[in-house]
Amino acid sequence: MSRFFSSKYDALEPYVPGEQPRDMEYIKLNTNESPFPPSPLAVAGAAEEAKKLQLYSDPQCRDLVAAAAEVLGVAEDEIVFTNGSDDILNFAFMAFCDKEHPAAFANITYGFYPVFAQLNGVPYEEIPLRPDFTIDPEDYMGIGKTIFIANPNAPTAIAMSVSDIEKIVKSNPDNVVLVDEAYVDFGAESCLPLIRKYDNLLVTRTFSKSRSLAGARLGFGVACPDIIRDLNTIRYSTNPYNINRMTMAAGIGALRDTAYTKMICDTVAENRAFAAAELKKLGFVMTDSVTNFFFASHPLISGEEFYKKLRARGILVRHFSRPEIADYNRITVGSRAEMEALIAAAKDILEEVK
Ligand code: PMP
Repeated sequence: MSRFFSSKYDALEPYVPGEQPRDMEYIKLNTNESPFPPSPLAVAGAAEEAKKLQLYSDPQCRDLVAAAAEVLGVAEDEIVFTNGSDDILNFAFMAFCDKEHPAAFANITYGFYPVFAQLNGVPYEEIPLRPDFTIDPEDYMGIGKTIFIANPNAPTAIAMSVSDIEKIVKSNPDNVVLVDEAYVDFGAESCLPLIRKYDNLLVTRTFSKSRSLAGARLGFGVACPDIIRDLNTIRYSTNPYNINRMTMAAGIGALRDTAYTKMICDTVAENRAFAAAELKKLGFVMTDSVTNFFFASHPLISGEEFYKKLRARGILVRHFSRPEIADYNRITVGSRAEMEALIAAAKDILEEVK
């Protein structure tokens, strides 16, 4: 660190993104990307907009907001778009957390929550999951903190019921409850219909997974207009052009191509069922995934060793060293061919360690 770096960041431990090594061609199952390219409508829209990059993008994102409002069945003043959903998570920590409104989230959840809390100087509580990796809603009842729930949760791949989340939202009326639905399209129930009922609920989503646009960086939040206004205050105070022209057009294309998004989700579900059954046959222990990834361990091999041996065979998965989950790996559900390669490599590795 330079001698100029503010001491307020002394304790900041930055988020570590999934690795992107270049020493060889890897099968990438470590960042939960989609195995499909973006919709042709998204690609064509972005290409067209590239011709106008001399001009700033629309800070109000009007066309994108209108397209999303139509697809999601919400009003235009109930949506805000951001540069990936990471951006809106940060905005939520900025807007709705401080010493009087500390944050609370699960001890095993999306690793960016504690980073954003630290970045914004927000005190936070990590609430332990149950031993089976589920969230106990009782732990969140009336706690008077700004609550962040990834639903489905990552890296556990497990979802909570909307009725349990509703109880949490209802019991914390003076705090925002953010439900991060990055993976909801792959098989969980959404809390979106609740935003009209509760003015303290903020639902966030991303185009990175089910809409194959991770590299475009597009996320959004849906909530009552007052919450959206607050988030826009933060957005206009940081970067009003946080959605670039090409991303905006790609987003509109992806939203319009509902059949393509459905194809992605259906195929991921099919490949997930196939790979889960095969991995279980090999003795893997895994949660019942409703996402585009597995959370899996094996009694014969440590999580880290399995990760390393897969890596040596050209397959990347995500290993977290946190002791509670060190036995596990988070493995993206990829294409059928990628899942077959994963299973073949797993068989080979298990033969080796037996
Ligand atoms: N929430 C969760 C639970 C995630 O796992 C991720 C990314 N992997 C995100 C949010 C952020 O995704 P993005 O910034 O690409 O929208």
